[in-house]
Amino acid sequence: MKNLIKGKSNLWEVVLGLEVHAQISSKSKLFSSASTEYGSEPNSQVTLVDAGMPGALPVINEYCIRQAVITGLGLNAKINKKSVFDRKNYFYPDLPQGYQISQFQHPIVGEGFLTIKTEEGEKKIGITRLHLEQDAGKSIHDQDFENTFIDLNRSGCALMEIVSEPDMRSGLEAAEYLKKLRTILQYVGSCDGNMEKGNLRADVNVSVRIPGEKLGTRCEIKNVNSIKFIQQAITFEAERQIKLLESGEQIVQETRLFDPNKLETRTMRNKEESHDYRYFPDPDLPPLILEDSLIDDLKKNLPELPDKKKERFINLYKLKEYDAEVLVSEKDVSIFFEELVKGREPKLVVSWLTGELFAFLNKKNVSLAESKVTVKKIADLIDLISDGTLSNRQAKEVFEVYLEGSKTAKELISEKGMAQISDEKELSNLIVSVLDENEDMVKDYKSGKDRLFGFFVGQVMKLSRGKANPQMVNKILIEKLKR
Ligand code: ADP
Ligand code: MG
Repeated sequence: MKNLIKGKSNLWEVVLGLEVHAQISSKSKLFSSASTEYGSEPNSQVTLVDAGMPGALPVINEYCIRQAVITGLGLNAKINKKSVFDRKNYFYPDLPQGYQISQFQHPIVGEGFLTIKTEEGEKKIGITRLHLEQDAGKSIHDQDFENTFIDLNRSGCALMEIVSEPDMRSGLEAAEYLKKLRTILQYVGSCDGNMEKGNLRADVNVSVRIPGEKLGTRCEIKNVNSIKFIQQAITFEAERQIKLLESGEQIVQETRLFDPNKLETRTMRNKEESHDYRYFPDPDLPPLILEDSLIDDLKKNLPELPDKKKERFINLYKLKEYDAEVLVSEKDVSIFFEELVKGREPKLVVSWLTGELFAFLNKKNVSLAESKVTVKKIADLIDLISDGTLSNRQAKEVFEVYLEGSKTAKELISEKGMAQISDEKELSNLIVSVLDENEDMVKDYKSGKDRLFGFFVGQVMKLSRGKANPQMVNKILIEKLKR
């Protein structure tokens, strides 16, 4: 069995389940008309409902419901035609209502699954449920030393809580799950998946057991806000639990916080039970009933999902599985690729995208969208390679300057005197002069010394100062050297 962790006396299996909060990309909040725009002046996007004023009534946002259903469909999940909004009661300064409107017993989306790649092949990870709920506001502690400030702009924003089954067995699988979930959310358009902005947040439930035994007691690690941190938190937490169990102690079910500086998890609070929250149906909101026509309509218009797109890329463009996977894992990259490949050689396009362009983006630490690189810009360069004006090597040389500057590809290469010689006549002349100068070698070649071919190519390249089109040189040389 893979993925087992060695303790002092046993091999241990890690068991992981994720609860992911995804903020729905909607213009207004789940039960109010306030804007959800990120980064506005604190408390500038707050209605009476979001401020928890008595008597202010929530009104459901239909768009958010549609987004939850689309997401459920993207997760191969059962859509519940009837769901219920409950009040989850607790006190916190950034929760002015004194309760969060959530869904408890009757979520809008039931069981589903997604698939991830593992070393042993594809693996299905079960989705337990997806429910809708309100986000809380933010407490701000770092403005001065004495006060905590409350910003209610986020209060009432729509969240989808997506709960997985405890199906993952390593930090890597948890990371793959989260990446795949994020990709699906981006494809259906329900959440931008931006973890830095907090639009996608994950709580990780971790337990360990000896393989084959029943599930161990879990600890929940709250709000680990990057994929890297999730893996680190899991590693630390699993080892902590193993140490405890091997020294005869028990795991206390609790909520823990991950500290990315110290690479450890710490107790935050004892695990609350659901009865602590005194859930009850919100009397201001009737049960939510979905009509078949709405579900059918959303099903019919469901965008192509990443797995399907990957399959299509492999079949249509004859891509390698790995390349297809890379290209579909970000929606905007997959769209960029399909624009770029129109009328072009897929192999060349893939190698320029996943090779040169990705390396450039990595180096600059920006996403494709942030980089503002256009399809046309890359297309122009690739076309100059395809028609023989530029060699791959030359194109690589100018790539960075080209992307960062405003010159067209043609302007740049003429400025650098780079254009390849692809004119048949010109090349023929070069080749003839090389062959004339090396008559002896030509004789040797013709009497069987094949490896001299490379020498001739080299001489032609030298004579042309590297500008001769290598494919054409090869072709013409073969002609001229026919035995
Ligand atoms: P709660 O709100 O109490 O955290 P949820 O049902 O929302 O409960 O979430 C439970 C999460 O914990 C799920 O993702 C589930 O897969 C996971 N989980 C349950 N039991 C275990 C376990 N023994 N080890 C690891 N994860 C677990
Ligand atoms: Mg939980």
